[in-house]
Formats: sequence, C-alpha cells, structure tokens
Amino acid sequence: MLIETYEVEVFTPPCEPGAERFSAVARLTVDISDVLPYLNATLRGAIYLPEAKALTWKKGGHNIAFHAYEIATSNVEDRDGAEKELRGLIKLVNRTWERRAEITPDTTTRQRPTPMAIYKLLPNTNCKQCGEPTCYTFALKLAASQKKLADCPPLSEPQYAEKRAALEEIVIETPAM
Ligand code: SF4
Repeated sequence: MLIETYEVEVFTPPCEPGAERFSAVARLTVDISDVLPYLNATLRGAIYLPEAKALTWKKGGHNIAFHAYEIATSNVEDRDGAEKELRGLIKLVNRTWERRAEITPDTTTRQRPTPMAIYKLLPNTNCKQCGEPTCYTFALKLAASQKKLADCPPLSEPQYAEKRAALEEIVIETPAM
C-alpha cells in the first residue's frame, strides 16, 4: 500500500467565511509523485503538470488536486461529504499504485475542452430535453462537469453517433470511485 498514514483536515475556505461549501486536505507521509502518471492515464479529464508534480481532476463539480505530499478536494456540500470523498481518493491512489504493472503511464498534459468546442458537437436543436434552455447552456455545464453526455438524449440517436464519439474523446466525465 502506498499511502498508509495521513492526517485529514476539513475546513471552509478562508476566502469564503460562512460559505456552505467545504474543502478537505489529506497530509501524507509519503511522496506520491510516482503514481501521478498512472492516474493521468486512467482518470478521464485529469490534467497532469509534471514540473509541479501535480495532477488536477474534477469529479461531480468538486475540484480535486493531487500533489507530492497532499491530496485535496474542494467545493463539497458538507463536512462529512468532504472527508468521505478524500478517503475515497486515497483508496483510488492505493488501488492505482497496486495496479501500476497493468497501466501504461501517461506524462502528457491535456487541455480541457472549451464550452464552444463542446457546443459545436452537440445536436444544436435547443430541444431542452436535458433540462437546460439551450445547447450552449448545456455545453457550459458539461465543461464544468455539472452535466453528463447521457443527459442529452438526442446524442443517443444514430444521426449523432459521430458527434457523440467525438464528444466522448474530449469531454471530462469522471468514473465512480
Ligand atoms: S438535450 Fe441535447 S440537443 Fe437538446 S437542448 Fe439539451 S444539449 Fe441541446
């Protein structure tokens, strides 16, 4: 196991006193830099910054950052949720490290797709089936990981198969931990 001991701190960001959102940080006693290329290879939408030995990722609207001696999550609704998510991230790191022989590490730095790049691949019918007033609003939320491709039913229709495939290549969707 890579991470065996750590300390967890849950707090409200100082820039938002009284805010109803929480952040949590796990301070580690081991350097997890070597696992970052494996996480980069397996976490869809992760952004790896090799010089900084850091990897950022979005999961369900939460901002997650892995550093050499620290894992952090922010923008979580409640204190328990922040702590639970952090413990899930630690399990994810340990599982990924244990499976590293099966994973080809990836040291490239990807760019997040812009809302406009996503919008160009949507059906652009403004049909509202996703619950949004326009396809562009949906694109904004998809880029921010607040919506999933599956929330746009027309994308499952055969005439949009090519666009759907292109979106699957670029859109950030996070798997369950
Ligand atoms: S369901 Fe899809 S096509 Fe319809 S408005 Fe939403 S994004 Fe556009």
